[in-house]
Amino acid sequence: MSANELMPFEIVNSQAAPHLIFVCDHASNALPPEYGTLGLGPDAFKRHIAYDIGAADVTRAMASAFAAPAVLATYSRLLIDLNRGADDPTLVMKLSDGAIIPGNAKAGFDEIATRIARYYKPYHDAIEAQIARARTASITPVLVSIHSFTPEWRGAKRPWHIGVLWDHKDGRLALPLMAALRQESDLTVGDNQPYAGELENDCMSQHALAHGFVHVLIEIRQDLIGDGAGARKWADRLVPVLHKALAHLNSSPTKDAPMNETTRTEIEAAAFRRLVAHLQARTDVQNIDLMNLAGFCRNCLGDWFKDAAAERGHDVTKDDARARIYGMPQAEWKARYQKDASPEQKAAFEKAHKNHR
Ligand SMILES: [Zn+2]
Repeated sequence: MSANELMPFEIVNSQAAPHLIFVCDHASNALPPEYGTLGLGPDAFKRHIAYDIGAADVTRAMASAFAAPAVLATYSRLLIDLNRGADDPTLVMKLSDGAIIPGNAKAGFDEIATRIARYYKPYHDAIEAQIARARTASITPVLVSIHSFTPEWRGAKRPWHIGVLWDHKDGRLALPLMAALRQESDLTVGDNQPYAGELENDCMSQHALAHGFVHVLIEIRQDLIGDGAGARKWADRLVPVLHKALAHLNSSPTKDAPMNETTRTEIEAAAFRRLVAHLQARTDVQNIDLMNLAGFCRNCLGDWFKDAAAERGHDVTKDDARARIYGMPQAEWKARYQKDASPEQKAAFEKAHKNHR
């Protein structure tokens, strides 16, 4: 790295508790001095091919509002695209809008390896360092990636104000976020628009999907955030929406959904299996104590199993049914764990039976 070079990433609020970690892969249109302009004219650096216009301002404002750390790229995607897997063929773009990028056209294996080592890896390591900080503090972080998109593509206007990009493997935050955004009646919200959010080894799949962390990628249309005022306005607008989505996330997504018959049966069965496992572990608990206290014992559970099976046309013998509860034949359990009943237990048993008759 030459003396004039910056670190390839910038961290905002580096000491803030990393409950939320913001990332902005396409924050900057700058290049390290040794790369000059990659042979491109100055106009190229004002456009989307160099960076996501407005995304850095939105990221900084949101990180500030949430008092959260943010990792922002220092260099342009023209140098290396941080939102790609290291083996992606578009990692270093040779063409942009159909025109050759002279400074990239001849970049071979060695040059790409150099850019990965100097600019790509440190950026991704910086994100992992924030995740490591979270782990040290026993925090499970949520990752939010901020991008922007052009208002037009190949002559067609893009209708969305904002897009939520996500992988169908994990919609824990994307779904409540889209629901919250759609409550804002003036917004057109893209679901995996203008791009699909399932790019293998992109930034969110490397740092969030791979670790199982809740995450989302937000794309905002550039004309809305192209100046500082617009970016601040949109950050102000998104902060409560993201809060709402995060609050929804904390409650189970299926909490309010009606439970279907199969699910209910599975849950009941799971509770029954846990009861049986508990009784198998607690060999100190005697059947006579269960009977005296609660009027049932392991044998009763076995008999209830037998009755339930018979109602459904399954002929399970009494011994088989009881063995399911004991985890072994009843006689074996009795030999191993059953203690002689004390006179007090016997007296209590007599009394309990009398009361139940
Ligand atoms: Zn982007």
